[in-house]
Amino acid sequence: MSHGGLNIPDTYLISCLLFFLLPVMTWILLNGVRSLRVTYWCFGGLCFGFGVFLILQRNVLPDWATYPLPNVLFFTAYLARIQALRMELYAAWKLFWPCVSIVLFLLVFEGIRVGLGDQLLRFEFVIIYHLAMSAVIIYLAFEVGFKLKMFNTFFIGLVHVVLLIVMVYQFIFLINNGIQVESAVSGVLSLKLGMLGALSVVISHFGYIGISLDRLISSETQLKTTGWVALNQKQQIIAQLDRQRSLGAMSASLGHEINQPLTAIMSNAQLVKQGVNRGLLNSSEVIEVLDKIIFNTQRANAIVENIRGFIKPTSLEKNKVDLGELVLDSVKFINQKLMVLDVDFNFSKAEGDLLVLGDATQLSQVLVNLYRNALEALHETVLGKITVSISHSDEYLVITVQDNGPGIAEHLLANIGEPFFSTKNEGLGLGLSISKTIIEQHGGQLLISNAEAGGACFKIMLPPVKNAVDKLYSDYAMPA
Ligand code: ADP
Repeated sequence: MSHGGLNIPDTYLISCLLFFLLPVMTWILLNGVRSLRVTYWCFGGLCFGFGVFLILQRNVLPDWATYPLPNVLFFTAYLARIQALRMELYAAWKLFWPCVSIVLFLLVFEGIRVGLGDQLLRFEFVIIYHLAMSAVIIYLAFEVGFKLKMFNTFFIGLVHVVLLIVMVYQFIFLINNGIQVESAVSGVLSLKLGMLGALSVVISHFGYIGISLDRLISSETQLKTTGWVALNQKQQIIAQLDRQRSLGAMSASLGHEINQPLTAIMSNAQLVKQGVNRGLLNSSEVIEVLDKIIFNTQRANAIVENIRGFIKPTSLEKNKVDLGELVLDSVKFINQKLMVLDVDFNFSKAEGDLLVLGDATQLSQVLVNLYRNALEALHETVLGKITVSISHSDEYLVITVQDNGPGIAEHLLANIGEPFFSTKNEGLGLGLSISKTIIEQHGGQLLISNAEAGGACFKIMLPPVKNAVDKLYSDYAMPA
């Protein structure tokens, strides 16, 4: 069958070559920003290519290599690409379920092909799974596009919409006319579909490169703003974190500054003790030394207050905040670190309303602090993972941030979160104490523990909007 010089095997050969070439090209182009999701995407491309190649070998290779194997490869390819898109939404599957579904898929396919020997049913099954998987890709591509404002995913979505329409058309044609299936690449798999397939490979791959570059550019832009004056919410968080970090660097000199009044307090206290013991000081001399102690205590206090004022979050602004959006918005601040350290970020959320009344900037600052701490804890962990989930408990909405790092030593658990408590050389020990204050100002609590599976676990408990409003009324209720 020839259409204007191109025939069906040719178009499939072209897609096959593109499927092999483009993942390799994507892989090379994304050098430096490659993450597990890029690997999944490229692996999906190679699986498609290998599948098409095997189909082209029908009549040459045995049936098992040209019927079940390519279909398993296609199915795996779809799953890998779906996984890559889910990872964009930080909702990756555990590998167990994709593996089980591949085995089930093979059993059903072979059940229809060998068990029932029904060619029409097999074609219908093939078309239906292509349709279903493309539909999932379209859904996810648009979800990523809208939620993360990565508009390159729309190309991926649109090209699959076109493919889906052509497949539906083929399916209807197949139902109405029946098929002749002697030739592996004729019948259902028409020239149009072959050419569109080739086109979709190109557009999808460039779309995907676009997504990765989008992500890189957005996190670089975020990083660049670090030193600027805070102009909007996001910049405010960065400025806030920046101040904390610069304080980290200043902590050595602050330590020195605070040491002076403390040393003076100590020596004056010892002087009074010895003087009184030996009866060398009269009461006016004791009062004089005690005054010095009071003066130095006030000095030390002023230094601490200065530090607090420097870091303390500014005034609280309460609006409705969707916790799902908050988690995804805040992760943008650590995207680049996630990529560089190859840490997996998983996110899942409960159904229903996830609204709280609060200050999005400050709540985001709490999350970014927890993410940063987790990243620091995962520094030496192979296959590091941060898992974030949102759930409902009796009276709270709960954001759980968990990592698979070394966790917190049991004997330190009680101290973690106290101001200035840190186990890090450069740490200031303020992140968690400020986070606790922010969450408490929102009528919630920050719980710190170790996860059962190892790693640290932080739970941000916040009253949902209705409870938060009730609480506000009860807080400000006038006495009857
Ligand atoms: P800093 O990061 O400056 O030390 P924080 O208040 O943010 O200050 O953290 C206090 C301490 O809590 C850290 O020094 C560390 O010992 C512990 N910690 C925080 N997050 C984690 C985590 N994800 N895993 C292990 N320990 C952690």
